[in-house]
Amino acid sequence: MMHKLTLQDLPLKGKKVLMRVDFNVPLNKDGTILDDTRIQEALPSIQYALNQGAGVILMSHLGRPKAKKDPTLSLGIVAKKLSQFLSAPVFFATDCVGKEVEKMAHDLKGGEVLLLENLRFYPAEEEPETDPTFAKQLASLADFYVNDAFGTAHRAHTSTATIAQYFPGKAALGLLIQKELAFFEPLLHNPKRPFYALIGGAKVSTKIGILKALMTKVDRVFIGGAMSTVFLKAQGISMGNSLCEESFVSVAKELLNHKIVLPIDLVIAQDLRPDATFKIIDVPEGVPPGWQSVDIGPKTVAAWTQQLSQAATLFWNGPFGVFEIPLFARGTHALAQALASLSATTIVGGGDSVAAIQSLGLSKKFSHISTGGGASLEFLEMGHLPGIDALSPGR
Ligand code: ADP
Ligand code: MG
Repeated sequence: MMHKLTLQDLPLKGKKVLMRVDFNVPLNKDGTILDDTRIQEALPSIQYALNQGAGVILMSHLGRPKAKKDPTLSLGIVAKKLSQFLSAPVFFATDCVGKEVEKMAHDLKGGEVLLLENLRFYPAEEEPETDPTFAKQLASLADFYVNDAFGTAHRAHTSTATIAQYFPGKAALGLLIQKELAFFEPLLHNPKRPFYALIGGAKVSTKIGILKALMTKVDRVFIGGAMSTVFLKAQGISMGNSLCEESFVSVAKELLNHKIVLPIDLVIAQDLRPDATFKIIDVPEGVPPGWQSVDIGPKTVAAWTQQLSQAATLFWNGPFGVFEIPLFARGTHALAQALASLSATTIVGGGDSVAAIQSLGLSKKFSHISTGGGASLEFLEMGHLPGIDALSPGR
């Protein structure tokens, strides 16, 4: 596995392990947990280390606390939930560094769990160079370091990267990241072919790099959502008021080649209200002024569904329309259903695409649903991640 030390390599009995997990769960307005998937995904590594007789010290960030203490973003609520999942007590430290934490970590016994308070209450979490003692203080708590936070592995933060230098030969990959890599590494090196990618969503500036990189690996890439607007414009099609990052039209023009599949019809609307007036156009007609593209049309869905059935490997990131509005979710939902029905290897990354699949109850029908949208894209683009690079070499 990327030739890195793994959790299973560590002699954990009677030792303490500091584990970076991704407990950055979405919260409801009243501060309760909206979705506990991320806690559940962290359980295998935690359970493994406990079974080996280690004292497990967990650390994570939650939300964006602007580098100061924010009681609405305390991980205390996660400690309760985790305790339920483990059917065991979880000690919670009301800070992540300092004397009290050090005492709690020192007193922790094998088979016990301690969760530290939100790392991002300290500016040095996201900007390690501003205070190297932050990493040092965290590192002093344990014998081993494990990174299992795939969702943040593309960030070179204190708890995801810098800290590893204090654990020479003792910084290892957790089980969740190993599972993620088991699906993503073959996409880079030896995907079963044909390998098709589907890229939608809105973040053209962050996704154009991955598109470029994918183009060298995939046999075909289907582009929908606001991503397709720049490509259609690059072909000289007028797109009316469609969401468009204008500066990328010329990049799209350079990328256009035989591997790229674009929508042949579009759903267009005059605004984004749930009861908006909409109509379907064939792409060559163009989007009239005052209208915007909001979904792929039924002809596109039919054509793509047919082509997708030939693939051996499929990677999907990003919805194909403004799927938050039910009227404009049809294309995304139809393709999610189509992918779910295939026996090919189907891999999905991206917060919004995953949400679409979950809302349809189709999660189990995909080979892999990634816990890291940004991380999976960066891995496919760059071929490595800072949070993994920092770990010790494998045995
Ligand atoms: P993911 O989270 O899966 O990576 P993104 O965050 O890139 O996906 O994009 C999701 C957003 O893209 C959604 O909010 C959706 O409304 C928007 N979107 C998709 N298609 C369009 C479109 N044609 N016009 C405007 N917004 C779109
Ligand atoms: Mg998103």
